[in-house]
Amino acid sequence: MQGFLRSNLFYNAGVKTWDVIIIGGGIIGLSLAIALRKRGATVLVVERGEPGREASDAAGGMLVDCPLETPPALQPLATSSARMYPEFTHELEVESGMKVDLRDQGTIVFPPPEHVHERPGFTLSGLLPAPVAELEPALADSRRPAFYLKERSVDPRALTAAALKTAKNRGVDFSSGDPATAVNRSEGRATGVTTTKTSFRAHKVVNCAGAWSGQIPPHAFPTRPVKGQMLCLAMPSRSLLKHVIRSADVYLIPRSDGRLLVGATVEEAGFDKHTVPATIQRLYRAAIALVPQLASARILEDWAGLRPGTPDALPILGETAIPGYYVATGHFRDGILLAPITAGVMTAVIEGRTPEHDLTPFSPARFQ
Ligand SMILES: Cc1cc2nc3c(=O)[nH]c(=O)nc-3n(C[C@H](O)[C@H](O)[C@H](O)COP(=O)(O)OP(=O)(O)OC[C@H]3O[C@@H](n4cnc5c(N)ncnc54)[C@H](O)[C@@H]3O)c2cc1C
Repeated sequence: MQGFLRSNLFYNAGVKTWDVIIIGGGIIGLSLAIALRKRGATVLVVERGEPGREASDAAGGMLVDCPLETPPALQPLATSSARMYPEFTHELEVESGMKVDLRDQGTIVFPPPEHVHERPGFTLSGLLPAPVAELEPALADSRRPAFYLKERSVDPRALTAAALKTAKNRGVDFSSGDPATAVNRSEGRATGVTTTKTSFRAHKVVNCAGAWSGQIPPHAFPTRPVKGQMLCLAMPSRSLLKHVIRSADVYLIPRSDGRLLVGATVEEAGFDKHTVPATIQRLYRAAIALVPQLASARILEDWAGLRPGTPDALPILGETAIPGYYVATGHFRDGILLAPITAGVMTAVIEGRTPEHDLTPFSPARFQ
């Protein structure tokens, strides 16, 4: 337990102190809490509302690590994290007793025309395991250029619920309902967190507050909310679609219980989480254009969530200029995918070990 030997620095008899306080109980904070706890750390998650109810609740759950869609600097983390997923979810399922619907049927992508012209290699029909019409008979136009990806998908709500239960089972502490208002410091080091009601002491603090990460002094990380609206349909038959389908206008993510997620907008709309009926209808019509049988599908739900965006669309991972204060945020469109690798590399950084990936491109120092 090299990283978590108790230092005497903050030890006052009678005052509870944690090894690590994590601000934010989304999938990033929860996965990190579990990883740190497994290494022997005592961990408190300070969550403003209820854990797992923000971006991690709103996500589609595609585990996209395709070079066509992933920023090059993120590719090594994306590939590693995608590989970690079966073990990551197996552990959560076993420890929580909950299913997270990890699916590996793969994805059929209808690339935008400019990609077809620029990168014809991606549209080789040979990459498809069978003709599109055989893979997905319900698709309206199966003769368009398409390619197949062996990527997985997961149900982010189920995943987050399983991570929350696992964290609780493993003895992670939670303070829910009051926002962290500041990271406390003494002699230049982080010493804990102040909330609207109280303060908590810790040797180390990690900001995992997603789109809100920049609101907690003393650092104003340049995160911003990037709104995504989506909807959920009940497929007319459970086996209507097997693969994730991505086109330029819309993506479709089937769940094993017969639901189908249709997403998503990418909007600069501040912290607004309202859905707009005309936008939801536009997404629905785009889904029907791909799969005409969806015209008879029932809309079960629509919602909007706030992705944590950053100026260069890359996450912010590492120790800040304040010793003992760390950040893991800005996962933008890939936070579900990147949860296991983020937990792994951040645990290493927090313990003072060298992480398995070079985190230089993600350093908080690039914005200071
Ligand atoms: C519509 C949509 C579709 C998406 N689809 C995908 C996808 O297919 N695949 C994928 O990998 N990713 C997807 N994403 C992105 C993914 O959801 C995010 O990158 C990921 O959930 C970020 O996790 P997080 O834990 O950092 O943030 P969040 O889940 O937002 O968690 C942050 C937490 O911090 C809490 N918090 C904020 N401020 C404070 C404070 N002051 N004190 C205490 N707590 C605080 C919040 O209440 C929240 O619970 C999608 C996102 C959206 C919106």
